[in-house]
Amino acid sequence: MTTKNLTILGATGTIGLNTLSVVARHPERYKLFALTANSNYQRLVEQVERYRPVYAVLADETKAAACRLLQTGTCYDTTFLYGTDALERVASDPAVDIVMAAIVGAAGLKPTLAAARAGRRVLLANKEALVMSGNLLMEAVQKNDAELLPIDSEHNAVFQALPQRPGGLAERGVSRIILTASGGPFRTWNLAEIENVTPAQAVKHPNWVMGKKISVDSATMMNKGLEVIEACWLFGAEASQVEIVIHPESIVHSMVSYRDGSVLAQMSNPDMRIPIAYGLAFPERIEAGVATLDLATIGKLNFEALDNKRFPCVELAYRAIDMGGTAATLLNAANEVAVEAFLIGELSFGQIYHAIDFVLKESVVKPVKVLQDVMVADGESRLMAQDWIKSYKRRRSSAAEGVM
Ligand code: NAD
Ligand code: MG
Repeated sequence: MTTKNLTILGATGTIGLNTLSVVARHPERYKLFALTANSNYQRLVEQVERYRPVYAVLADETKAAACRLLQTGTCYDTTFLYGTDALERVASDPAVDIVMAAIVGAAGLKPTLAAARAGRRVLLANKEALVMSGNLLMEAVQKNDAELLPIDSEHNAVFQALPQRPGGLAERGVSRIILTASGGPFRTWNLAEIENVTPAQAVKHPNWVMGKKISVDSATMMNKGLEVIEACWLFGAEASQVEIVIHPESIVHSMVSYRDGSVLAQMSNPDMRIPIAYGLAFPERIEAGVATLDLATIGKLNFEALDNKRFPCVELAYRAIDMGGTAATLLNAANEVAVEAFLIGELSFGQIYHAIDFVLKESVVKPVKVLQDVMVADGESRLMAQDWIKSYKRRRSSAAEGVM
């Protein structure tokens, strides 16, 4: 068995920690080449002390001085690099075999693309990178003989339930992809109750422990919308072939429906170490540290239809697919801005949808030919969403003054 060198982009986040936990069980298989973080240098230094990677990267240069103070003495085996360019460097270094793309949001795009261009095995947790760049990332994978393995639990499930032979969905007898969704913390709430939920309520997911951004996305169900776009790119599916079903227990992680009426599902306890272990070792299977599924104890698995009225963000994603070109980039960027504004109390939960809807309606969609097209659309969408939020705040404060 040859040892593989691994870079973890976003090592200090939830997926990063789960990846380290799987890797720690298999020291003979995986060596840590680089660990990266945005600004949490304390956690990064702790990880360096424990795992001794060749490189550690802190993307936020304003924290470099504080990080240097902390790292002296104990981390001398590891070279520390600072700034966003270093992320691309450790994602594409000739010594790297596998890159875990687990940065949250658009910030992960460039290093993920760099890993694909360098022909690496890319484990894709950072769905926003694919949603934004679509054809560019897929082409980079193809042209450079890279591998793109989905870590998002639904797509990992679909990947596992698909026949492992080349060809499009039709050639492989597939009629539909069915993504399951837990429904998030507000699955049973009515529209009026959902409108003004707090950030603390929104980040409390019933089945998964995740970073704040994806937790809010799960609560609005924009996460499922992003996942529909992700599935279209990963599996070469039309939007009409990708369905969503609510499954509150998060045991069936997704399904593939075949021409003959068969439906194959992948099941497990909800634990991200399973898709991570699968991606790391594919096509082998390695121990992930997760208890096997005990269906008798679980007893019942439930399924229900998605209610688009209470969770309108999903339709925004289908609309973006129809619009094509930069629309998915616009959608993703506006969502990131709106979620941040919600988390700091500047936007109500229900208005997240309206901010994104506004950007999609008011923007001019352009074709995506080069990375610059994506970056320009991303920047324009952010400015538009920020303006919309500013005018929303003005409306909100003048309404409050009117009441007094
Ligand atoms: P998280 O917030 O816990 O961690 C994010 C990581 O990205 C951290 O290490 C952080 O330092 C780094 N980061 C953030 N901003 C950065 C920037 N500007 N530059 C460089 N690094 C930056 O998030 P998470 O829950 O681990 O999710 C990571 C990605 O995986 C997201 O795209 C999410 O949608 C996806 N994902 C997560 C889960 C899950 O269970 N957590 C499941 C499926 C998909
Ligand atoms: Mg998912």
